[in-house]
Amino acid sequence: MKIVICGAGGNMGKEVVRAVTAEGDLDLVGAVDLVEAGKDAGEISGLGSLGTIIKDDLRGTLEETGPEVMVDFTSPFVVMKNMEVAMECGVDLVVGTTGITEGDIAFIQEKAAARGVKAIIAPNFALGAVLMMKFAREAGRYFQDVEIIELHHDQKIDAPSGTAIKTAEMISLGREYKDIPELQVLEKIPGVRGGEKEGIKIHSIRLPGLVAHQEVIFGGLGQTFTLRHDSLNRTSFMPGVIMAIRKIKDIQGVVYGLENII
Ligand code: NAD
Repeated sequence: MKIVICGAGGNMGKEVVRAVTAEGDLDLVGAVDLVEAGKDAGEISGLGSLGTIIKDDLRGTLEETGPEVMVDFTSPFVVMKNMEVAMECGVDLVVGTTGITEGDIAFIQEKAAARGVKAIIAPNFALGAVLMMKFAREAGRYFQDVEIIELHHDQKIDAPSGTAIKTAEMISLGREYKDIPELQVLEKIPGVRGGEKEGIKIHSIRLPGLVAHQEVIFGGLGQTFTLRHDSLNRTSFMPGVIMAIRKIKDIQGVVYGLENII
């Protein structure tokens, strides 16, 4: 399969370059990045020269190389535009960039159907994180009270993480009751109790040294139950990305969340 990576100069993009080029059935035919344009995608990924020079023109690269799949790990500010361009070029999508909203997904579904392309979009490609979300959904059926703490490196732009939002959505799907009567709280520092999604508090921590981590803490009478996942480095996401690339031919339309294809 011919692959183009958008955001190939970023932390995740370089990891995807290493992962894709290690697979015999995948062929890296193009790489796009605004900051690293002009450089060899292999050189900046520590592989030595691959002869794939990074371009800053996504549409031109897709038209020139004709890939089956574009992988996008860029930024929440540009990912929708990138996806639109790929769909207009008739290219299927594997997207890991976070910050994509429910409204965005509806728009992509419509556009993908009109263009006859498919997409796998996942806020987290790490298997353990996907299992954490599944188990959180299950536990949410039994525990009424839950809060999410997500911890990421200090360069992450969006907050809360896509994984935290998805986790809250999944817990709310598995719940029998949604309206939890809340104690009136005096927030002495505004926002100190965290943000809220589906009635679930989310707390975002950003620190150097972290990669991607999350705790889902359930509280009940005389007990707590904690699910925790740690991505210790970015290789943790690569088996999921490679699996999504290979599975795209078997899916229908747009799939949101790796849990739907494992
Ligand atoms: P990064 O800042 O290191 O890399 C982003 C790259 O995208 C940069 O090199 C930048 O130059 C490039 N870029 C920006 N706009 C572009 C455009 N219009 N066209 C082409 N390239 C463009 O960020 P990162 O750590 O690699 O993360 C990228 C995204 O992936 C973030 O949204 C992050 O939250 C997400 N992420 C997802 C997962 C997952 O499993 N789904 C895991 C880790 C990170």
